[in-house]
Amino acid sequence: MKTLLPTSTAGSLPKPAWLAQPEVLWSPWKLEGQALVDGKQDALRVSLHEQLLAGVDIVSDGEQTRQHFVTTFIEHLDGVDFENRKTVKIRDRYDASVPTVVGPISRQKPVFVADAKFLRQQTRQPIKWALPGPMTMVDTLYDDHYKSREKLAWEFAKVLNQEAKELEAAGVDIIQFDEPAFNVFFDEVNDWGIACLERAIEGLKCETAVHICYGYGIKANTDWKKTLGSQWRQYEQVLPKLQKSNIDIISLECHNSRVPVELLSLVRGKKVMVGAIDVATDTIETPEEVAATLREALRYVDADKLYPCTNCGMAPLARDVARGKLNALSAGAEIVRKEILSTPLPDA
Ligand SMILES: [Zn+2]
Repeated sequence: MKTLLPTSTAGSLPKPAWLAQPEVLWSPWKLEGQALVDGKQDALRVSLHEQLLAGVDIVSDGEQTRQHFVTTFIEHLDGVDFENRKTVKIRDRYDASVPTVVGPISRQKPVFVADAKFLRQQTRQPIKWALPGPMTMVDTLYDDHYKSREKLAWEFAKVLNQEAKELEAAGVDIIQFDEPAFNVFFDEVNDWGIACLERAIEGLKCETAVHICYGYGIKANTDWKKTLGSQWRQYEQVLPKLQKSNIDIISLECHNSRVPVELLSLVRGKKVMVGAIDVATDTIETPEEVAATLREALRYVDADKLYPCTNCGMAPLARDVARGKLNALSAGAEIVRKEILSTPLPDA
């Protein structure tokens, strides 16, 4: 990456109203058949265009072709029955009706590879592709086959690895695994969560990232955050082991959150995607607010390893709000970039 402080988003961006109902998760598609296929590609083009206009350096598909960051991937796997649904508590937080694992997990065909090739054709900018992490996948299902969260996660890691290798071959520069569950199940993360993540990236030559956040700005998450006290120290439980892992980049929530910024020092040596945009509010940050968050992070992350980012996905936000936040991210990063470049180097 040549640019200093290259900007990116955590992944998802709002979909156009003609494709899916805006401002909700799991929004049903408004098109069918070939019109849906074409509509998703058009939405991907628009989403990319908006990122480029805003000056985002590492671009994504805005997750325009998926209904949800976890379920869309799982829908393409064998071994999961979507008709057979059970209610489970996701991340110990809210009830959701989820599909059931009824047999061995396997991936008969690629899930996102055609989409990634399509994105690759549209731009020369570096591209990042998000996949769900194994532990977060396990947490979004009822398991009636393996009856072990660890075993099921390991099977998911294997199919994620197959997908990741094909994404790499399609020209993806950074493959990111979304693991919000890492902020909840600390013992499991350290026992097998990180090991599964390393299985998912086995043999990859492209860069790899893990995104750990406090979730979308939906009510179940904001209610949960109210119970976490004045300092959110969850990252303290998982960052030391991630620092020793083979993952290249750690994507964390920082802006407007109660995460003590000094916790970033726990992943010293890794690249850090620093969340400098709050996705749980419609208020658009000023470039100066973004810059202030990045300056704080720079006390604990080396400048050449700091990647300004959003706290989480922006799928549930209004499009003009998301657009404003992308612009603020770029402008804030530019302020700090200039400061770094104008500061004389200390004497060697
Ligand atoms: Zn997130």
